[in-house]
Amino acid sequence: MDIFAVRLIPDLRLGTPYSSYPTEEEKRRICNNAGIDWFYEAVNFMSESGLVKGYLPPSPLNKVKESKDFVLITITRKTHGKTGRAIEGGNKIFGIQAGCVYVGEKLRPDSNMLTYHYTCLESFSLPFNFPLSDAIENIENDRRWGQNNFYEVERLALEKVIALAIKQGCIEKNNAVLQRILSLLSDDDIFNNEVETVLKNGEITEPEGNRQPSQIEVLVNRFKRDPKVAAYALREAEGVCHDCNKDAPFISKKTNMPFLEVHHIIPLKEGGEDTIDNVVALCPNCHRKRHYG
Ligand SMILES: [Zn+2]
Repeated sequence: MDIFAVRLIPDLRLGTPYSSYPTEEEKRRICNNAGIDWFYEAVNFMSESGLVKGYLPPSPLNKVKESKDFVLITITRKTHGKTGRAIEGGNKIFGIQAGCVYVGEKLRPDSNMLTYHYTCLESFSLPFNFPLSDAIENIENDRRWGQNNFYEVERLALEKVIALAIKQGCIEKNNAVLQRILSLLSDDDIFNNEVETVLKNGEITEPEGNRQPSQIEVLVNRFKRDPKVAAYALREAEGVCHDCNKDAPFISKKTNMPFLEVHHIIPLKEGGEDTIDNVVALCPNCHRKRHYG
């Protein structure tokens, strides 16, 4: 999973952030008063019918264009590029998103000012409760900020940001979107590889699974799952969500298979078994519904 950080001009409107797109009038007023050119962070966490349409600065890295699904950390610029003046609301981390897909430059149908460049499912989009301060110090460290508005980030930096955001209360540790992002990251690197190996080997006779899966400590406590159980459920699903019967939203980069999540009907933490009888393959939106009812 590729991880990028994007640095955007902050939204300086008063009121709840991410509730509406800026109007031409708001844009003019704020840009004139604050001496900035634009503010884009406002649009990157808004969801329309479960989908976020986000902005990226001009000429994003080729790697982004080629990346099938990436993680994005949104931070705000510390200073104005031309004047060098500090920007109010700058140097903060606003949130993280996973499963982002680059779509090229597109004009928003409802606005003649705003363009978007990537989409992300709402169920993978995590705006912090309040922004995490000192973005540069926390995420960039030895980087000369102001150099790029878009760059690749080490996985360790992302984990550091998440740990710090939890510690400072910007996100709750058990937030469902956070859990989903973490499991995507974790699955991506370890579990999905194991699932892929099982699938490649072809033969999956009904695995027995584990009646009492053991726990392993990572960033949060997780149950050690049997990749054969997940692989079996995914193979049986054939890319179709168990609940809505729709195709998976995107193809997983690592497994090259439709992205579905294996859901435990009775959660492992409630004593559920990690067996094929206790799992279904769901799209992220339905998975979210199962958790929130
Ligand atoms: Zn579904």
